[in-house]
Amino acid sequence: MSTQVVVLGSGYAGAGAVKRLEKELGHDAELTWVAENDYHLVLHEVHRCIRDPSVESSIAIPIDDVKSASTTFVKGRATDVDVDERVVELEGGDTVDYDYLLVAIGSSTAFFGIDGLEEFAHQLKGLDDAREIHQDIKQAATDASRDDPAQVVIGGAGLSGIQSAAEVAEYRDLNRAPIDIKLVEGMDEIFPGNDPELQGALRRRLEELDIDILTGDFISKVDEETVFIGGGEDEAPEELAYDVLVWTGGITGQPEASDLELEQDERSHRFFAEEDFQTSDERVFAVGDCALVEQGPDNVAPPTAQAAWDAADVAGANVARAIDGQPLERWSFTDKGTVISIGEDAVAHNVKFPVVGEFPVNVFGGPLAKMLKKGIAANWIADVTGVGRAASAWNDL
Ligand SMILES: Cc1cc2nc3c(=O)[nH]c(=O)nc-3n(C[C@H](O)[C@H](O)[C@H](O)COP(=O)(O)OP(=O)(O)OC[C@H]3O[C@@H](n4cnc5c(N)ncnc54)[C@H](O)[C@@H]3O)c2cc1C
Repeated sequence: MSTQVVVLGSGYAGAGAVKRLEKELGHDAELTWVAENDYHLVLHEVHRCIRDPSVESSIAIPIDDVKSASTTFVKGRATDVDVDERVVELEGGDTVDYDYLLVAIGSSTAFFGIDGLEEFAHQLKGLDDAREIHQDIKQAATDASRDDPAQVVIGGAGLSGIQSAAEVAEYRDLNRAPIDIKLVEGMDEIFPGNDPELQGALRRRLEELDIDILTGDFISKVDEETVFIGGGEDEAPEELAYDVLVWTGGITGQPEASDLELEQDERSHRFFAEEDFQTSDERVFAVGDCALVEQGPDNVAPPTAQAAWDAADVAGANVARAIDGQPLERWSFTDKGTVISIGEDAVAHNVKFPVVGEFPVNVFGGPLAKMLKKGIAANWIADVTGVGRAASAWNDL
């Protein structure tokens, strides 16, 4: 009987691990890939679809163009894993048996219990979300006028919020649409926790795109028409009327994660994993946003595409090593720098180039940053499919 290896999820972590497993597994192992969508989504470019939904043809890559013919694909959403029986349960009742399981199901949006937020805000975690945001912004702009512009509010100024706000601005300018854009961040500065020079460069470019930035108070409540910011016992909250509200302010585990019998963070339901990606069950590995991958004491890998991409390769190899009884490799995250799109522009920070090493300038924008941003996404697409698809996606990235 051959060893059954199952990978859950078709994001960076799942796709990257499948590619590595296809190289590493011997003839006595079979690989099954389970995911709710039959495409791999280059999620870190999904905000481009807010401006132009046709970009999806470049960033949603059919599973058959990623996997090899010998890998079986099962389309379905995993609802539970029985670690004693080694069975993955799928929505609708189907099951998939495994000997080794790699969980790479990503994250969902955290709403932090803020009254009305989940009910009234869009989130941005997939193609459907991006399509709906585009549609609602288009409709709001159609119903608006120069004297009474459509109000688009983006909550959360991390990678998703900043890049999304800039795409709304590009949409506004391309279509000469009457739209006001507000980016609301609860912390004192946008892209919290990052280098002040980078924060300043991002702020400048967003303001050049005529995006209003509100920082220092958290969204406290939302109703059908209004976002309430801050406020307390003696102080009334600031009120922002909105037509379209997009919330990108935090991530948490997938809703099913809490049912899985794997040790996990009580609040976020992200799975604890060692530096070799092993979870509390030695037959189950976890990688990407769904995992809190240990990085020394009190530190975990960041929930980014960059980390998931790099980690997936080692996680895939470790599953193959576990099957062969070989020692597992420990992975540590090396930050290669950050490149953030601001519409047609981009800002790069702390980027390390092969051969040259660290770039002498810490933060830079312009054509080089833009090329880097395109290059990163194209490189990933070439890695999981081939250079042809990467080349045809280039203009959309
Ligand atoms: C708008 C936006 C912009 C971003 N920009 C950047 C950036 O510039 N740089 C950067 O490094 N990161 C960026 N990120 C973050 C980055 O996209 C994530 O960190 C990355 O996608 C994590 O990869 P993953 O494979 O763990 O999860 P995902 O890419 O989210 O993949 C998870 C997969 O699992 C599937 N799945 C989920 N639940 C189940 C289930 N129960 N059963 C079966 N399948 C399931 C999903 O459909 C999906 O295919 C951005 C994210 C967003 C939303």
